[in-house]
This record gives sequence, C-alpha cells and structure tokens, in this order.
Amino acid sequence: MIDNGRIINVSKTDIDARGAQVIDARGKYVSPGFIDIHIHGGGGHDFMDNTTEAFLGIAELHARHGTTAMFPTTLTCEKADLLETLRIYEEADKLNISGAQLMGIHLEGPFFAMNQRGAQDPRFIRDPDPEEYHDILSRSKFIKRWSAAPELKGAIDFGRYMVQNGVLPAIAHTDAIYEEVIGAFNAGYTLATHFYSAMSGVTRRNAFRYAGVVESAYLIDDMDVEVIADGVHLPAPLLKLIYKIKGSAHIALITDAMRAAGMPPGESILGGLKNGTKVIVEDAVAKMPDRSAFAGSVATFDRLVRNMVQLAEVPLSEAVRMASEAPARIMKIDDRKGSIEPGKDADIVLFDDHISVSTTIVNGKIVYNTYGD
Ligand SMILES: [Zn+2]
Repeated sequence: MIDNGRIINVSKTDIDARGAQVIDARGKYVSPGFIDIHIHGGGGHDFMDNTTEAFLGIAELHARHGTTAMFPTTLTCEKADLLETLRIYEEADKLNISGAQLMGIHLEGPFFAMNQRGAQDPRFIRDPDPEEYHDILSRSKFIKRWSAAPELKGAIDFGRYMVQNGVLPAIAHTDAIYEEVIGAFNAGYTLATHFYSAMSGVTRRNAFRYAGVVESAYLIDDMDVEVIADGVHLPAPLLKLIYKIKGSAHIALITDAMRAAGMPPGESILGGLKNGTKVIVEDAVAKMPDRSAFAGSVATFDRLVRNMVQLAEVPLSEAVRMASEAPARIMKIDDRKGSIEPGKDADIVLFDDHISVSTTIVNGKIVYNTYGD
C-alpha cells in the first residue's frame, strides 16, 4: 500500500485499503523501480542540450521503460556549457512531474587520460585543477558524482575533496595500474565507471606486466562496477564473468544512453545539439562515423534487465537487484530508494516475463500505464 508517495505496507494477504485505488498486478512482477546512475539522454534529447524540454523528455522516455530515478550525466565540454547544464537541472527538477526523478548530477570529465578518451572531446581533456573543480562544485549542490582518471597529477587530492563534499569520485577513462587503483580506492574512488570501457587491462612496460583497472576492480572486493548491459558493449561471456566475480551487490546496471535511445536508427548527435559530435546509430548502438568505436548506448533499462536474464543467465531477482538495490547503495540513496519496503519512496515497476514494462510509479504517482490502451 502506498500513501503520500511512500510505501506504507507490504503484504501477501489482503490489507484494508478502503477508499484506495487498486492496481491489479496479476500475471506481472512487482519490482522496485530501476535506478540509472549514468545516463546522457534519450527520446532525441541530451541533457547537454541545456533545455528543460530535454531534461523532461529524457526523464519521461526512460520512465516508460522502468527507470524511476536517474543521475543526469554530462560530457567533457566548455565550462560555460557545463554551468548552464547545472542551472537547467534545477529548473527541470521543479517541473518534472511525469518522468523518472532526478537524483543529482554525474559529471563525466574532463579529468581523463587522453589515451582513453573514447568519445570525449579531446580539446577539453586535462589534469584536475583545484581552482576549477572547487568553483564548479560551489555552483551546484546537486553534483553527486564525478568521474575522473585517478592516475593523473592531482587526482588523489581531487578524490579526497569530492568525498569531503559528499560527491562520489569514480574511476573512468583511465590507464591506471593496480598500485594506482589501490591508492585511488583508499582516497574514495570506490566505483569503476562503465566497467571495461575506456579503461586499462593488463599492460606491458619494458617486458614487465602490470594489472590494470579491470583486474584491480576484481581484486578489490569492495570496489563497485557499472555495467552497460545493452548486450553490445559487453558480450555475454564478459557479463557472466563480471557477475561471477563481483556479484549482484557490487554491480550497477547502467544505460549510459545517448539521445538516440528510444529513437529509430540512423544519424544522431552525441553530446549537446550545439557542440556535439555526429554519430551513427546501427546494430542497436551508437558508433563514431568511421565505425572504429562505440559512441554511447541507445539502451533503455528494461533491455538491461532482459539481457542480464537472457544473455548472462542471471536469476531475475539478481538482475533486479543490480537495477535497484545496488545502485541505490552506491549513490547513498538507499535510505529512500532501491527496494520495496515500508517507509521507502513508492518507486515501483510492473513488468511481464519479457521485462516489458506496463506500469511505472514514481513517488506514488503513476507516470506510465498501458492499462486501457
Ligand atoms: Zn557516459
């Protein structure tokens, strides 16, 4: 039973709910809403379009696919554009009544290893500059996470400063080796951003081998990892390997979706409409125009859960855990979200055996419902 946006009672037997609206979930799974901690866009919009319409459009598109809470993610860009995104976030948050709830901002860049930049704009990639990140953090209280390469000069200080300010530093676009990752983990970098993508594995330097971020994340038991389970970025054997070693408690499924999520294949733009990069969407993924690298996923969250069950052969309850409980804990919102329990926000999704979502409830409000269609 839900009241005032919260779950107040969970029972397998009938409960006295006179006067309440009854939702019949017969034949469906009742699941905690999905929490996407790394997402750039969807429905033809990118958060960096810097319009409230874009924010609301993305929140609504993904709510139709089961996402009830999300952390809008920026790309490496001009500082002025970033500050505008921080401002628009606050405006959009107030207007957002029919989409997934905005839980805070994830900054992706610009403190990355040039060699591992992927689709991030090389013009803006640099080492952490305290003056710059102090200033950016002071502009918005909604920044909750910042992805950076921990081997860069100044990156450990950056990580400590983030933790002191309630921001989660995450390891991303990096060439770090094990010794550097241990130092980073101890400084607060407890999450590996889009695991396997844009990060080091085993490398050789003058004949000697070094463990990279991938091996380090496996070795450090408490390191959390994000997995783009769109079925394209990581093939089934790697999804299985990650699950086998890290377990559902330390994996957050993410879409890392760009604007073409929920849109037909063809040309699209990665990043904001003004300064973005032209990309091509085919084979259910966005690619750089020369097809040499992926340029973001076009997944929606239902697809991630379906892939974990069908491709990685993970039990559904475990896939749901990686979609709700684990990301809630990683982002420290598990006091409110991530499970169906009395006292928690009423973020609930109904779906069938094919993980086809029929109802999405955000904070007790039905924002998507196929009944009567
Ligand atoms: Zn991303």
